[in-house]
Amino acid sequence: MLLRSTLTSKQMAFKRSLYPNQGNRSRFSSGSGREIDLRVEFDEIIFGGPTSIPHGKQVLIRRARLDDNNRVVDCVCKSKLTKEADMDCPYCLGEGHYWDEELIICYARFVGADGGLSTRVKKLFPGEIRVDTKIFYFKYDSAISYKDKIIEVQLDTEGNLVVPYFRESIYKPQTINPYRSDYGRVEYIAVHCREDDAIRLDR
Ligand SMILES: [Zn+2]
Repeated sequence: MLLRSTLTSKQMAFKRSLYPNQGNRSRFSSGSGREIDLRVEFDEIIFGGPTSIPHGKQVLIRRARLDDNNRVVDCVCKSKLTKEADMDCPYCLGEGHYWDEELIICYARFVGADGGLSTRVKKLFPGEIRVDTKIFYFKYDSAISYKDKIIEVQLDTEGNLVVPYFRESIYKPQTINPYRSDYGRVEYIAVHCREDDAIRLDR
């Protein structure tokens, strides 16, 4: 009963407002001070704020460790002869170089060339392929490079991490697009990844 009333008051505490700019006074200040600040909007939508519940989800960023020359640091498992990594390596998990992982909150969605995933094999001519893209949106100051990976970890239906952690899909950035607006500053970062390139791990 106690838990129930706590949940209800928590739910009632939040009141969604689609019109944050009320009474002609904007809470936001952009680079110019006169327009909507996309960084603030992004934060409110993804991480939550006075006008929005959090809409983001947790993913892992696997950042490649770089040496002084900006090159990835090869793992001990990588063969000098074949340049192949050991897929069962406990240090790099088959990546072939050392890395560090960080949990980060982002928003992700699919974009299809014509109508999305449900029509992806319709009306394709022999020899044609079509590729769906998954776009991950990150905060403007997130550090991500083409040497890194985005990893979707298993989440429960409420968005919580499932323990023990399980890496479901590994995405390689195809295009990293920092969206710039006010005075050319970065407002948020979109990372496009090819869906068919994603590595799905077995348990
Ligand atoms: Zn290794």
